[in-house]
Amino acid sequence: RNEGKVSITDLEELSKLSYPLCMRQTHVALKETHHLRHWGRMQYGLFLKAIGVTLEDSLKFWRQEMGKGIGIDKFDKQYSYNIRHNYGKEGKRTNYTPYSCMTIITKNPPSAQDHHGCPFKHTSSDLLRQKLKTYKAPSDSIDEIINLVKAQHFQIACGKYFAATHKMEESSFQVTHPNHYFDESQKILK
Ligand code: SF4
Repeated sequence: RNEGKVSITDLEELSKLSYPLCMRQTHVALKETHHLRHWGRMQYGLFLKAIGVTLEDSLKFWRQEMGKGIGIDKFDKQYSYNIRHNYGKEGKRTNYTPYSCMTIITKNPPSAQDHHGCPFKHTSSDLLRQKLKTYKAPSDSIDEIINLVKAQHFQIACGKYFAATHKMEESSFQVTHPNHYFDESQKILK
């Protein structure tokens, strides 16, 4: 439905404006370390597919970023298959769906070398507080977000972050899916 809607040259800006924190984190890690481990590639790769990045552009983007780390040859040999696979072009040709918040929050918890997961659930509150400051969340919203996180209301905390960064009193929807978050943000910003 969305195919071709988003160009990879816009991802950097979109990551700052309209990505939920879970995807911003994988994007930043990929840009900085030129690598993501399996679940990070799955989480971010399927999100990119669903916002409308074509298979060709996805391959280009991952090759460009991971190629700086492991080299283009190794990327082509070891990783391009998985990207085509995510788009249903290899193996059983399943059309994989992007992960919901529930999946990200409850499955495959990240280890220390990982960057996937939900920052509201998987990041310590001190680190999360720092991150929210870096991302310029209004300071009065930060305490509220941290309190929600401490009470284990991860998705409500994410909704609060959405509202605060889109200059709204309350978010107008419940965050249940990173792609929904992205679509709602784009609706407001466009
Ligand atoms: Fe991502 Fe959902 Fe967590 Fe928000 S609540 S950061 S959209 S997984």
